[in-house]
Amino acid sequence: MKFRVLGCYGGNVPEHGMTSFLLNGSVCLDAGWVSGALSLREQVKVKDVIISHSHLDHTCSLPFLIDNNFSAPGFTLSIYAIPEVIASMKNHLFNNHTWPDFTCLPNDLTPVLKLIEVPEEQPFRVNGLSVRPVRVSHIVPTTGFIVEDKAGAVAYSSDTAPTERFWELVNRTKNLKAVITETSFPNELQDLANVSGHLTPQTLDMELRKLKRDVPVYLYGCKPRHLALIRRQVRGLKRRKLSFLTQGKTYRF
Ligand SMILES: [Zn+2]
Repeated sequence: MKFRVLGCYGGNVPEHGMTSFLLNGSVCLDAGWVSGALSLREQVKVKDVIISHSHLDHTCSLPFLIDNNFSAPGFTLSIYAIPEVIASMKNHLFNNHTWPDFTCLPNDLTPVLKLIEVPEEQPFRVNGLSVRPVRVSHIVPTTGFIVEDKAGAVAYSSDTAPTERFWELVNRTKNLKAVITETSFPNELQDLANVSGHLTPQTLDMELRKLKRDVPVYLYGCKPRHLALIRRQVRGLKRRKLSFLTQGKTYRF
């Protein structure tokens, strides 16, 4: 699987885009920085977007991805998420106030945007990928995803505090190539991490004890203000096969 990191931060300052990944050139996994990272020519090839939760650092480029490409011949976009996340996007994003409701534009019969509800834990197919949503422990309804193609599987936790079910299913995934999880705050901000449903290096360390598979683990989601400190604390864990995702890099899993 070609896994291109469009953005991998939990906030936005120059050179630091928010969470979004491009899989095999056409499927986006979260959309915090799609229009910020891809040229128009690349954006128009994105047909499917899988969304983990409604927070802006995972969704805020969706309105511009659609707006930028609305008049491109044949452009349509399907967004897949669990029902609570779809409801949130209908009510708070594509609601004709924050942004137009593109699910009825240019008309009801052939809209440019489809919002597609997917059930938890049941794999669905998107452009050659099998995608399984798994509930995690964030402050809004959130799923991670286990994404698989013929070459292998990648498990992405999305934003989460300590959680259980995700690791159970990850440990059972055949052909697992990598795990991607978050570290948003440094240890000094553990209270803030707890109330906002995120990990710090010390809670990450406990989470990784639940992982029974010998695969590389990549981190995303650092708040830019705390990047250097988080990096130092993660290095201090002295775990092998643990590193940070690099923005702009394409991994092959
Ligand atoms: Zn979040």
